[in-house]
Amino acid sequence: MFIGAGPGEADLITVRGARVLAQAKVVLFDALADPTLRDIAPGATWVDVGKRGFSGKPGSDFNGQTRINDLLIEHAHEVGQRFGADATVARLKGGDPSLFGRLEEELHALHNEGIACEVVPGVTSALAAAAATQRPLTRRGTGRSVSFTTAMTRTGDLQCGMGPGQRADTEVFYMAGRQLAPLCKGLLDAGWPAETEVSVVSRAGWPDMRHTVHTVASLDDASVIHAGRPTLVIVGAGATDIPAQPLTHIRRCGESEG
Ligand code: SAH
Repeated sequence: MFIGAGPGEADLITVRGARVLAQAKVVLFDALADPTLRDIAPGATWVDVGKRGFSGKPGSDFNGQTRINDLLIEHAHEVGQRFGADATVARLKGGDPSLFGRLEEELHALHNEGIACEVVPGVTSALAAAAATQRPLTRRGTGRSVSFTTAMTRTGDLQCGMGPGQRADTEVFYMAGRQLAPLCKGLLDAGWPAETEVSVVSRAGWPDMRHTVHTVASLDDASVIHAGRPTLVIVGAGATDIPAQPLTHIRRCGESEG
C-alpha cells in the first residue's frame, strides 16, 4: 500500500490513508513524514527508508532507491508469510506519492514480483502552500493552467519550465531550494518577465512554515531565508496576492442585469 502522508503535520493525511496505515504490519517511511503519524499504527514495525538516512551522499541516490525497492519486496513477502495474504506493508511517502516520489520505480519493482498494491493519494506540498498562503494556484481570467515541475533533471542540470515557448500560467517548482540563483536565470531565459511575482514557501503545512514574496529577478534573496528546508517556488498568476477588492460579480445564465 502506497500512502500519501500529506506535506506536514500528521492530520493532513487523508482519512483513507490513516485507515490503511492503521492496518499495516510494517511501515516504510521517508524523512519528510511527521513522526506523530506513528500514533496511528503503534503496533507496526516502523522502518526509516529516508534516503538521507541511507546514503546522504550526492550521486548515491540510485543505490538508495534500489535498496528501498528491495526492502519493499522483502517486507511484503515476510508479512505475507507471517500474517497471511491480507496483511499489508505501508509505504508512507511525503505529500502525494505520484509527484516526485519515485513511485514509478517502486510500483515497477512490486509489479515485477507479482505483488499486488494500491496507491492512496495525499495532499501534495504545492496545495498546502497555496492553502497556507491563501494564494490560489488558479485564478479566474489570469490563471487557467498550473504545472508541477522539478527544476532538477536526472543528470543534475537545471531546466526551467516545460520547454521553449511553453509556460503554464502558474508554475510550481519542487526541489529548487538550493538552486534559486540558477532558477532565476532559467526563468528569465524561459521568457518570464523579471518583475513576475514569485512566492517561496518552505515547510508548508507545518507550524514553522516560512513564506516570502520576490520577483523573478530577486529570487536569490530567498536562498538564505529558506536554506536547509523543503522549499517550493511558485511563479506567475498563483504567486500573487488576491486583490483587495472582490472580483466583479459574473452574471449567471438567465440572471438579469443591474
Ligand atoms: N511527493 C512530495 C514531493 C517530494 S519531492 C509532495 O507531493 O509534496 C521533495 C520536494 O517537495 C522538496 O524538495 C520540496 O520542494 C517539496 N516539499 C515537500 N514537502 C514540502 C513542504 N512541507 N513545504 C514545501 N515544500 C515541500
